[in-house]
Amino acid sequence: MSATDTLTRFRCSICNSKKTYKSKAGLQRHENLKHSNYKEIPAHISLVPEYELRHIKNVIVKELQKRLKNHYSKVGKQVFSIHCSENSFVGIFGQYLTWYSVCGGWYQCFFDGEEAIDQLTEIFEDSQWEERNYGNGQLSWVKLYENESDKIKETDHATLEPKKKFHFEKGLLIEWRIKGFSDKAEYRCEGGEIMFKFVVNQAKDRLLWYRGKPSQGKNYTVDLTDLEDLENSLKIKQDSALKFRVKFNFIMARYKEAIIDITKLLNIESNNKFALRYRAEA
Ligand SMILES: [Zn+2]
Repeated sequence: MSATDTLTRFRCSICNSKKTYKSKAGLQRHENLKHSNYKEIPAHISLVPEYELRHIKNVIVKELQKRLKNHYSKVGKQVFSIHCSENSFVGIFGQYLTWYSVCGGWYQCFFDGEEAIDQLTEIFEDSQWEERNYGNGQLSWVKLYENESDKIKETDHATLEPKKKFHFEKGLLIEWRIKGFSDKAEYRCEGGEIMFKFVVNQAKDRLLWYRGKPSQGKNYTVDLTDLEDLENSLKIKQDSALKFRVKFNFIMARYKEAIIDITKLLNIESNNKFALRYRAEA
C-alpha cells in the first residue's frame, strides 16, 4: 500500500480504533451501525446571539404554520427546508439531538409523543406553534402522536413488521446538513439547510379526533357530558385529558371552564408548564 493510499483512508474518530475504511461511504456505514445514538456537540461550534436564534425560531414557526393548510388534500406528509448555519442549528436544537454523524457532518432530531408538544413549545418559545385555527373549531396541526384508534392499529402493525426508525405516521423529523451542487468545471456552491419532515392532521374537533371518533360535520357541537366523559372513560393519563379540555375550552373562549382545569393541573403538579402558560393567557 502506498503512502497516498493510507492518507486517503478514513478512520472513525468516535471509537478511535486503528481500523480504517477505504471510502467515506464505508465509514458512514460503520457510523450507521455503531454510532446511530451519538450526540456529542462538536468542538467547532460557536455561540450565536440569542436574538439571531429568536429570528430563526420565528421563521421556522412561520414556515410550519404555512403548511398547516385547511384543505383535505394537504393532510399527511409535509417537507420543507430553510437556510440555517450549523452554529444556529446547534444553538436551537443542540440539547435535543437524536444523532450527530461525525463523518457526514449532519445532525438529526426526532420529536414525537404528547411531551414533544411542550418540549417544542419551549424550544420555539411559542405555545401555538403546532396548531392553526380556522375558526369554528376547525383546526390543522402537526401530528406528533396517535389517537386512541390509531394506537390500536399501530400495535397490530408492530407485530407484523420490524419497527422502522422514522415511519411517517406521526412525529417531526428535523435534519441539518450542507446542501449544494457542482457545475461541469467542478465549481461547487453549498450552504447549510434545516429540513423539516412531519405529518399534518385536520379535524373539525381535535378532542373527538383524539378519542378516535370521526368528526361529525359542521353542525356538531361537543357537549359538556362528552368532556366529562373524556376525563373518566379514556384510558389515558388524567393530565392529558385535562390539557385537552383546557385547549378545547380556550378555542371555544370558555375561559372560566379552562381555569377550573388549569387549577386541577396545578394541584397535581404545581409547576406544570402547560398550566402555567395557559393561566398566563387566560
Ligand atoms: Zn466507530
